[in-house]
Amino acid sequence: MSDRLPAPSSSQEWVGTVRAVQANYYRVVLDSLSEKGRPDDEALPELLCVRRSRLKKTGQQVITGDRVVVTDPDWPSGRAAINEVLPRQTWLPRPAIANVSQALVVCALFEPEPDPLHFSRLLVQAEACGLTVRPCLNKSDLVEPEQVERWRSRVQSWGYDPLILSARTGEGIATLTTTCRDRISVMAGGSGMGKSSLLNALLPEVSLRTQPVSGRLQHGRHTTRHVELFAMPDGGWLADTPGFNQVELTECRSDSLASCFPEIRQRATECQFPDCRHQQEPGCAVRELEWERYEHYLSFLDE
Ligand code: GDP
Ligand code: ZN
Repeated sequence: MSDRLPAPSSSQEWVGTVRAVQANYYRVVLDSLSEKGRPDDEALPELLCVRRSRLKKTGQQVITGDRVVVTDPDWPSGRAAINEVLPRQTWLPRPAIANVSQALVVCALFEPEPDPLHFSRLLVQAEACGLTVRPCLNKSDLVEPEQVERWRSRVQSWGYDPLILSARTGEGIATLTTTCRDRISVMAGGSGMGKSSLLNALLPEVSLRTQPVSGRLQHGRHTTRHVELFAMPDGGWLADTPGFNQVELTECRSDSLASCFPEIRQRATECQFPDCRHQQEPGCAVRELEWERYEHYLSFLDE
């Protein structure tokens, strides 16, 4: 994630990641000084920062996930100021979060019964946001191994390598941890798929916070959608949106729906026309082949 290591101390500039935003304060975790990543027992230095007035004047917003340049840290008090926001690689609007590069799209294999069209829609939306998409098939403990394999090959035929997970037994959690290394990831998926449970399995130290909260709290601090990044044990960040636990991917736009389907990406260069929409065009390599999600493509294209 860090293409810029902290500058030498003489310049008093440091690069870090905004972990959370609280009113006018930004919690910034500085990049580790060691290129190998942090040792387990050493906490990453986190600073409570304000925006320099120059940034306020230009209207430069600072959001969770931003890579920022911090100057003049006051180490004893843990305070500093943000001097610059580095260019964003990606941007998700709801909740506002920068530089996410991976979407973990979660679907339960049972309870509730998987809905392929809905799952497919979420995958397409994540693609349209420009994210690396990793389908996660959760609750593997509730179905027979043959059924797990059927779903694995089905999702593979969609062009993905799904993670098989169980928040209950811990299956796949170590692989998921590795997948999140060196980047910012978000979880998407309908309610009941097991996103909170997976977060708890991944980040045990956060569990207390994601337990069901009292009614009063639900109407209080949980009505504002805010987002926080949590450091993954092997490096990288996972975004958690307390009280909602889900990002919305619906507002992202892609130039072409076709580019959001790996199946089409693999074949589109073989179409006769470079601007083929893969509907009625002659010489279309995409329409000719039999593939399950062609129906999804046509119905999303209609929308
Ligand atoms: P969310 O709405 O996506 O955050 O889903 P939750 O994490 O709240 O999970 C919904 C329900 O599914 C809860 O009752 C969980 O205990 C259960 N659940 C989640 N993951 C698993 C799993 O891997 N196996 C089983 N058997 N149940 C799970
Ligand atoms: Zn075509």
